[in-house]
Amino acid sequence: MTSQQNHIILNPSYCESLTEYKRRKTITVNIGDVPMGSDYPIRVQSMTTIDTMDTMGSVEQTIRMIESGCEYVRITAPSIKEAENLGNIRRELRLRGYTVPLVADIHFTPNAAELAARLVEKVRINPGNYADKKRFETIEYTDVTYQAELERIREKFIPLVKICKEYGTAMRIGTNHGSLSDRILSRYGDTPLGMVESALEFLRICEDMNYYNIVISMKASNTQVMVQAYRLLVQKLAEEGLKPYPLHLGVTEAGEAEDGRIKSAVGIGTLLEDGLGDTVRVSLTEAPELEAPVAQALIDRYTRRAENAKPIKPITINHTETLLNPYQYFRRHTHEVVNFGGQNVPRVIADFSQVSDVQMEDLKSIGHFYLPLLDKWKMNDLGADYIYAGKQPIPFMVANGSRQILDATTWQAIDDKLNTYPLFNGLDYLQATEKHPELNFVTLTYKEWQPEFIQLLKSDTTIVLWIKTENAHAMAALRRLFFFLLEEKITCPVVLRRDYQENEENTLLYASTDAGGLLIDGLGDGILLGTEKAHQASKEDLLKKLSFLNQTAFGILQAARTRMSKTEYISCPSCGRTLFDLQDVTAMIRKRTDHLKGIKIGIMGCIVNGPGEMADADYGYVGSGVGKITLYRGQNVVKKNVPSDKALDELIELIREDGRWNEVEAIEA
Ligand code: SF4
Repeated sequence: MTSQQNHIILNPSYCESLTEYKRRKTITVNIGDVPMGSDYPIRVQSMTTIDTMDTMGSVEQTIRMIESGCEYVRITAPSIKEAENLGNIRRELRLRGYTVPLVADIHFTPNAAELAARLVEKVRINPGNYADKKRFETIEYTDVTYQAELERIREKFIPLVKICKEYGTAMRIGTNHGSLSDRILSRYGDTPLGMVESALEFLRICEDMNYYNIVISMKASNTQVMVQAYRLLVQKLAEEGLKPYPLHLGVTEAGEAEDGRIKSAVGIGTLLEDGLGDTVRVSLTEAPELEAPVAQALIDRYTRRAENAKPIKPITINHTETLLNPYQYFRRHTHEVVNFGGQNVPRVIADFSQVSDVQMEDLKSIGHFYLPLLDKWKMNDLGADYIYAGKQPIPFMVANGSRQILDATTWQAIDDKLNTYPLFNGLDYLQATEKHPELNFVTLTYKEWQPEFIQLLKSDTTIVLWIKTENAHAMAALRRLFFFLLEEKITCPVVLRRDYQENEENTLLYASTDAGGLLIDGLGDGILLGTEKAHQASKEDLLKKLSFLNQTAFGILQAARTRMSKTEYISCPSCGRTLFDLQDVTAMIRKRTDHLKGIKIGIMGCIVNGPGEMADADYGYVGSGVGKITLYRGQNVVKKNVPSDKALDELIELIREDGRWNEVEAIEA
């Protein structure tokens, strides 16, 4: 670790403050009559899924999207004919009184971009494929041959910039982690720096031509890569003296339902917390009108954030060994306490403290199943690691591999102290006469950072801290507590705890943002989504809530790439190029493969962009013609044009050949 990296932590050039919410200042970009950036609200947008040649279908879908909250609507233009039809779609919308700015989505076809830039308010180009065809080649460049490549891009790109200037059309330079050019991959690799450089190659040409009506994005389906790339972009723009352009935030191929929402919130929310982002597109494998409300819910948290948040003490660290880097994943160094910290995956704690009269079957809600015939417990892949029972000890042996946590006063009164662990309230731990020899949980708030406690944290290797906050700027407040630990070189593991009173949809998004934002930065060794605020609910409702919170906790860990406990689906949101019904096909594939823990399956609607966009998937199921599927192992084609009714069986066969298939295990007796 160099002092420069430490400098990055304390004075990050990607955001104004790590403790105070401040939205990044950007230039204004004019997109029709809905400007973006500077002091304008963070905008919501989405993309149509209907064939662009279906004018009325596209118009109807666009209207549904506007009504659901979209402020810009993107439509794919894979060739000249679709680009031309954007004019008809726009005309019909205007006739019906809708002035929403339209955005043409371009891949590979500069001629379609040049036409669309004359017809709609904004053009999105992908710098990975605007001037390059993907051949998956590694090319050795000298500085001279690299420069010659940049000249070639310049020639291809300048006509579009001139048209945008002439027509007042905005542009998004939209980098995708999965579709970087062979040139970028050869020189920078599959990295956040490669993504940033991919956009900068095009941006420098724009600035040379005094064209600044630009928005930039750095999307990836890997949330760590995505967050790092956006942060690095902001830093590089400042470093090179380029303008502070507005940012379009998105996680590509996030998937569907809860998993898609969690993954989007982890990636997008982390950046919003840092004050980055001027427009949000949530990509779900669902109808596009379902995306805007999710984007809006993420954004709404920040409209009054600065006024509602309590002040947080600024960060000062006077040593240089702190391992934390916002541009590269490092997990905070911790020592191991039982199975917390060290090399262990982050743990999930289920909060049963509000449930009275706990029965064996109640634990199904957190993935623990009692099999009476065998008289034993079985846990599924989402089985909580610990059960916090508060003041009400669970009256039976819990599953092997999971443990019970009790409030310290209750724990002191029970007989079997060795197989349960106590939870102490902050400073009470200092006075406690009886402690567990291996593991003591201790809650700590901001106010309790007293010198004697700091000394204890340095010397007592049995402590796992629970940190929580009521501050509206929760992620920053909890991160501040981690900085106290880093400052004092304290290496005890830490559990992130937070209670939410919101409905399920918002709890899912908020928890994913607050905890995910920390986990992405390598902070946190466990997670507890509490039920304290649900104490008046019926037992049935509490168990439902526990089931939801347990799945959410595992989902957050998976989305932040810190613990893989289920199959990961990287499915595209679909667009006018899609060759099959993505929702139906994803559901069909999920039904037969969702027990394959840790395997990543890409499900892509077309072969033009799909293979690139599924980035780091282990297997790919990609539409390659009507009723035809091409199967991939990583980035390599293994079976071409398989009839769609046989493709799933063939995919399973492929997984089987690799020795990664296992049969579903029935665990409910
Ligand atoms: S991969 Fe999906 S969203 Fe991307 S271009 Fe192809 S069909 Fe459209």
